[in-house]
Amino acid sequence: VRLRRIDIIGGGPAGLFLGRLLKLHQPSWKVCVHERQSPHETFGFGVSFTRRTLRNIAVADPETHEALLATAYPIERSEFRTPSDTASVPLVGNIAIGRTVLLRLLLEQALAVGVQIETGKRIHMSELGDADVVVAADGVGSETRQDLADVLDVEVTSGKGLYLWCGASDVVLNGITFASVETEHGLFVIHAYPYSREYSTFLIETNEATWQHAGFAAAGAALPPGETDTVSLRYLEHAFCDLLGDTSLRGNRTQWLRFRTVHCQRWHYKNVVLIGDAAHTAHYSVGSGTKMAMEDAIALCGALRSDRSLSQAFEEYERTRRPVVEYLQACALRSQTWWESYDIRNHLLPAQLLVSYFTRMGTVRFSQLAETDSVTVTAAVAAFVKRPITPKHTSELVRQVFAEPFHKGTLSLSGRLLDSGWDNVPPAAIAAPCCEPLQGASSLLASRMSYVTVLSLADIAPTRRQYPGALLFGVIAPGSTAAWTPEGERLFNTCRHFLKGGCDGILLSSESSGDVGGERNALLSRLDLAERVCVELGGIVAVEGEPAYLDDLVAGIVAHRTHLVRLLPSPPLVRLAVDGDDEDL
Ligand SMILES: Cc1cc2nc3c(=O)[nH]c(=O)nc-3n(C[C@H](O)[C@H](O)[C@H](O)COP(=O)(O)OP(=O)(O)OC[C@H]3O[C@@H](n4cnc5c(N)ncnc54)[C@H](O)[C@@H]3O)c2cc1C
Repeated sequence: VRLRRIDIIGGGPAGLFLGRLLKLHQPSWKVCVHERQSPHETFGFGVSFTRRTLRNIAVADPETHEALLATAYPIERSEFRTPSDTASVPLVGNIAIGRTVLLRLLLEQALAVGVQIETGKRIHMSELGDADVVVAADGVGSETRQDLADVLDVEVTSGKGLYLWCGASDVVLNGITFASVETEHGLFVIHAYPYSREYSTFLIETNEATWQHAGFAAAGAALPPGETDTVSLRYLEHAFCDLLGDTSLRGNRTQWLRFRTVHCQRWHYKNVVLIGDAAHTAHYSVGSGTKMAMEDAIALCGALRSDRSLSQAFEEYERTRRPVVEYLQACALRSQTWWESYDIRNHLLPAQLLVSYFTRMGTVRFSQLAETDSVTVTAAVAAFVKRPITPKHTSELVRQVFAEPFHKGTLSLSGRLLDSGWDNVPPAAIAAPCCEPLQGASSLLASRMSYVTVLSLADIAPTRRQYPGALLFGVIAPGSTAAWTPEGERLFNTCRHFLKGGCDGILLSSESSGDVGGERNALLSRLDLAERVCVELGGIVAVEGEPAYLDDLVAGIVAHRTHLVRLLPSPPLVRLAVDGDDEDL
């Protein structure tokens, strides 16, 4: 694109890195970054990067990559702590860095190649009439996005839970650390990690009810914007004294917030283009906001350097980035709902929590986790079977999980698979190199127990009469409806009615999935709904799934998302046969 001047509103990671890349590759362009704050006035503590993000930065700008690595702190483990136990797994190539350190580094790198930096003044796009391109890198609260909301088709949603971002010094953490505390007001959960030898970042979450009970809502309303909520910090120091010792939590304009997820159907209009948090956000629990901001900068720089018109370059930027961003946002939404519903799985032991955590978005497979740390995953299976077991090969662990008897009241089943024995489990469903043929297990319904299914409440009584000895499952086909949405709530209530109406359990069927997001997405949603039913309603729950997704299903059983699994293709379900047509059970 033929350009003379590019103005960037916002000197966060997106704006500064873009400024540097543009000037690095096109020294003749005039590039100016406008930042409303003076240096060192920024918010936040540490941010983390994965190995893959660092690789992308290394390719785009080896010098900045080197500088980042020289300052960053390695994050080598991820662990869940409870007062009695800790479980952890190793991480490879992750780093953390203080947000202020990162911004200082990016500022120096931008200045070094001749980017003009204007600080201390809030800028509106209308003031930048001379610019060939205006880049809105003005963060989650982007005024530019708000002014163009109609043409960009903007949607901003707020999370249900509340979080507070703070820091502490001299706390010994082995890496990313998760811990929860139940106070008289309710549950608080910490995500923390060190970002230097001395300092650690702390994100503390709670739910609406706890936040209200603790009086934080009322106290927060009285706080002027930009002031730190010291009352909450003192409360949390006390609550997490086991983890923090005598250390105090430090704030930096720290207040309780709800995470805002930003979606825009378009990221550009005329000569204005959005990048970073201004264009999209993804829940902090996937640690990807800074990564996405810097990767947007790489893509936009690449598109502007190409031999195209401005609008084609913007289209190219969107075409490159949108699929990646939307995939991450979908993962982040799963992660967000996992954390927002944390209280329903707080009873799990740390090793099970780790399995649940790593498999919450479908991005890490059970077998992958087991190969990374067989001791921890074996501990999770041991916690699930409630007896010690020696570390095993992944395929043996899977077999052990499916073969574990299920007891509830007077009911006793000899395993976790409905209908199918092991013959339906193709060895290829278990990731190489641990693939061993899974053979030889018997039919898993003890004492030749059988089950029947009903599709409506009205069918329950007649089916009971017709098949008095059989287990009775109410069938729900949720498609890919997310468990924690209003539609998910409606399905959850239908499950409740089935169980109250006399069903022994719920079968979450894969029928009618084939929708947006595909089979896998639908299965993950079934497992989320199953978990709610298991924990909150207490019925027996079975989830249907394809053998190709065996990893999700086995993780689902270990992490108490479901009790039973029905592998597809299985024999056709026995439907209600009240009209006298005899069907075999
Ligand atoms: C609690 C929490 C934890 C996080 N943890 C991580 C993590 O571990 N890893 C990670 O990758 N990301 C993390 N993030 C996300 C990350 O902080 C953001 O995604 C990232 O900062 C986005 O960069 P940005 O440049 O788009 O926006 P910002 O960093 O928000 O920068 C925008 C800049 O624009 C300036 N500005 C705004 N309006 C104007 C104006 N009108 N004129 C001039 N200047 C203006 C602002 O002052 C600001 O400096 C976290 C976010 C939160 C909330």
